[in-house]
Amino acid sequence: MRQTRNARRAKTVLVAGGAGFLGSHLCEALLRSGWRVICVDNFLTGRMENIISIMDQPGFRLIEQDICRPLDFGEPVDRIFNLACAASPPRYQADPIHTTRTCVIGTLNLLELAVRKDARLLQASTSEVYGDPEQHPQREDYVGHVNCTGPRACYDEGKRTAETLCFDYLRAGKADVRVARIFNTYGPRMDPADGRIVSNLIMQALEKRPLTIFGDGLQTRSFCYVSDLIDGLMRMMDVDPNPGKPVNLGNPGEFTIVRLAALVKAMTGTKSDLRFLPLPQDDPRRRQPDISRAKALLGWTPKVPLNEGLKLTINYFAELEGSRIGDQM
Ligand code: NAD
Repeated sequence: MRQTRNARRAKTVLVAGGAGFLGSHLCEALLRSGWRVICVDNFLTGRMENIISIMDQPGFRLIEQDICRPLDFGEPVDRIFNLACAASPPRYQADPIHTTRTCVIGTLNLLELAVRKDARLLQASTSEVYGDPEQHPQREDYVGHVNCTGPRACYDEGKRTAETLCFDYLRAGKADVRVARIFNTYGPRMDPADGRIVSNLIMQALEKRPLTIFGDGLQTRSFCYVSDLIDGLMRMMDVDPNPGKPVNLGNPGEFTIVRLAALVKAMTGTKSDLRFLPLPQDDPRRRQPDISRAKALLGWTPKVPLNEGLKLTINYFAELEGSRIGDQM
C-alpha cells in the first residue's frame, strides 16, 4: 500500500550535513538524479556558498537545525543520508562534547526519524573507527585500535557508537540502515581554513608559505576524489539487498605526506620549503582501505587519479584566492 502511494510522488531524500563539503556535492548529485532534497544543517562547518547554486532549485529545501534536537516533518521522507558531523580534527576538537552528541544523539534522532518515516538510512562513518591501525590495509572486519580517552576520541568513538546504533536498529528490524566507512576525501568546496591535509598544503603553496608537515611526513594516507566518493555513497544507498555490514569507501592508492607535498609543490610551481612540526597525539601512521567489499557488492571502484583530482582542487582554491584578492582591491 505504502509503495503504491510512494510511487505516485517525487521521492524525497534528507541529507543531514548537506551544506558541508561532501553533503553539498551529494545534494547536487541527488537533485540531478530527480530526488527532492531536504538539507538539514546547523552550519557549524557547513557554508551557504556550498549550496548557493542549488538554493533556488524547486526540488531543494534547507532546514537550519542541529540534529541533536529531534527532527520531525509532516512530509514523507524516503531516504536519509547522515553526513552531519565536523570532519576535520581542529573543528571536531573545538567542541568535543558537541561532536560526541552529534554522533550519538544526532544519529539516534535520525534513526528514529527513519523508523517513523519507514525510510532507508545511510550513515557516513569513517576510517577513523580503525584508529591507529595495526592491520594494513584496513578491511572491514578489523575491529580497530582506538584510544578512547585521547583528543580524537570524541570523533572516533562517537562514530563507532553511531555504527553500533545503526547495526542495532538494523538487527532489530526497525530500519533499513547502511554504513559507509569513508576514507580521506578531497576536492572542491573543502573549507580552505579547516586544517585538512590536502587543503592546508594547497593553500600554503598558493600563498607561497612554507608547507607544514606533521611528524616526519612518512605517515601514509589514501586520497579519494569527491566525485568517486559521492558515486560510492549513492550506490551504497541503492544496493539491494542490504549488505548488512559496513563497507569501506576510499581510494586504495597510498601516499606518504611528503610525496603529497611534493606533488602539490610541482603542480602549483611554488618554491615554498617544507616545515616539519610535531605529530599530533594519536595521529595514525598508515591508512589504506581494502575496497574488495565495495567492489564486490557495489561494483564500485574510484576512477580519478590523484594528480587529476589535485589539479581540479588546486584550480578551485586558486579561483577562491583570486576572488578574495579581487575583493580586497
Ligand atoms: P564537513 O565538516 O564539511 O560537513 C559536515 C556538515 O555537517 C557541515 O555542513 C556541518 O555544518 C554539519 N553539522 C555538523 N554538526 C551538525 C549537527 N549537530 N547538526 C546539523 N548539522 C551538523 O565535513 P565533510 O568532509 O563533508 O564530511 C561529511 C561526513 O563524512 C561527516 O560525517 C564525516 O565524519 C564523514 N567523513 C568525511 C571524510 C572526508 O575525508 N571528508 C572522511 C571520513 C568521514
